[in-house]
Amino acid sequence: MTSSATRTVVVTGGSRGIGRAICTSLAEPGTTLFFNYFSPNDPEGEKAAAQETEKQVTDKGAEVQGVWADVASSDDLQAFFDRVLDATGRIDVLVNNAGITRDSLLVRMKDADWDLVMDINLKAAFRTMRIAARTMMKQRSGRIVNIASIVGVIGNAGQANYVASKAGLIGLTKTVAREVAPKGVLVNAVAPGFIETDMTAVLSEKARNTMLSQVPLGRPGQPQDVAAAVKFLCSEESSYLTGQVLHVSGGMFM
Ligand code: NAP
Repeated sequence: MTSSATRTVVVTGGSRGIGRAICTSLAEPGTTLFFNYFSPNDPEGEKAAAQETEKQVTDKGAEVQGVWADVASSDDLQAFFDRVLDATGRIDVLVNNAGITRDSLLVRMKDADWDLVMDINLKAAFRTMRIAARTMMKQRSGRIVNIASIVGVIGNAGQANYVASKAGLIGLTKTVAREVAPKGVLVNAVAPGFIETDMTAVLSEKARNTMLSQVPLGRPGQPQDVAAAVKFLCSEESSYLTGQVLHVSGGMFM
């Protein structure tokens, strides 16, 4: 994955769903993995979720620290990365996974829901990359993977804020990829389609069936399907890939 025998991996939003699967798939002996979580409404419950991620990572032989930090807060993010750099002095992999939805049709969408989705899904990735890129460029190595979405490419009625954030994340990925490529840092995005997590569990049966009818493989994806793509983009096997968007959607997007 990198030239160092030990590597430092940072994942945002690692307490559940795709983020947890990414943490587990990147965990191996020699890895120190930091993930953050937030859980504004249920701190006790989510602490248990974060502890479950810590357990799964530890079981694979990696060191792990789950850290409470809101990615929408610049101060929280800086403190999170200070902790990473104080502990290991390097960042080999950054995965921007934390994301939320606040869906409604455009004409009913509130400014607050637009702003929150942008802050968590897009601005946080700008801030984490700004911090991590400095360290990675000094190292002359590093991998960044941003979790976008198929809808950031094809659009989706009822998700103007979410779609704009994910389309922005794809543009940000390509721009940062061009800026840091000369220093040996690779930046790519993964665009999941319909993946079974808490995020999609809230969909009605009708909405779920409509989504599934658009998946050529005829089944929803699992968090591990996305994690496998992230693992590939953090491996030596993908060392000539940067600025790409890898779709993990069962063929929804071709
Ligand atoms: P999820 O099950 O709802 O999990 C979201 C994760 O993000 C949780 O770990 C959550 O932590 C974290 N998070 C949310 N707000 C945060 C904040 N302010 N600060 C720190 N962490 C925060 O969602 P998911 O389905 O796994 O989605 C993961 C990523 O994949 C997102 O970027 C999403 O947009 C993208 N995606 C998902 C699908 C899909 O079908 N599921 C499709 C395309 C793209 P807490 O619970 O601790 O707050």
